[in-house]
Amino acid sequence: MRTKVIAGNWKMNKTPQQAAELIGAIRPLVEGAGCRVLVGVPFVDLPAALDAVKGSAIGVAAQNCHWEKAGAFTGEVSAEMLCALGVGTVILGHSERRTYFGETDVTVAKRVRAALDAGLEVILCVGETLDQREQGITAEVVAMQVKVALGTVSGQEMARVIIAYEPVWAIGTGRTATAAQANEVCALIRRTLAGLYSPATADAAVIQYGGSMNAGNAAELLAQPDVDGGLIGGASLKPQDFAAIVAAARS
Ligand code: PEP
Repeated sequence: MRTKVIAGNWKMNKTPQQAAELIGAIRPLVEGAGCRVLVGVPFVDLPAALDAVKGSAIGVAAQNCHWEKAGAFTGEVSAEMLCALGVGTVILGHSERRTYFGETDVTVAKRVRAALDAGLEVILCVGETLDQREQGITAEVVAMQVKVALGTVSGQEMARVIIAYEPVWAIGTGRTATAAQANEVCALIRRTLAGLYSPATADAAVIQYGGSMNAGNAAELLAQPDVDGGLIGGASLKPQDFAAIVAAARS
């Protein structure tokens, strides 16, 4: 039995004070969740978020990290810096990073390596564009993203890797993958992991779905056998909606 993981991706939203307030609103609503709950916050909000989750089971994630430990990389933040703050998890390879900031499978792989070396848990995002889906190459694209990103990752390290299947056409669009589509690609990712590592490693891996998951559609998506949680953007900024998704993961 895999424990489901519901992670909010706040993207570039909330000041430190607003972050503390939002976590304060979420906390009582997700208490006793039978799943893991994480909030992925902007870098500057990390200290406030870490403070706000103290005494709760909510974890805090960053939304990116660089592959070098330190150096002349203006505007970047290293995995070591995140660890020094007490951050446990980092989201890597999000499609917004790939689309707007030139991330490639190769740079994502370097970030994954650095994050794992520093001791972080990784949420690795993969997913096809609408063009790729319409061309019928979703399976190839997603399998390739997984294989390249995990190129240096050992089977043992996979215990610290969560994969988020996020079809690009479903992120922030209100257009959700059907439960069958989500499960089909999550299952494909699991088969890819079985090929790269072992059936046992694949079976233990947590594979989330992300893309316009909300309070209304979460239960059906999360009931799929290969969907082990969600990466939630827009709905993670609304405490009641986020809590409803957490509740759907619990049932
Ligand atoms: C995301 O940012 O990873 C995401 C899934 O966004 P949304 O839920 O808004 O589609």
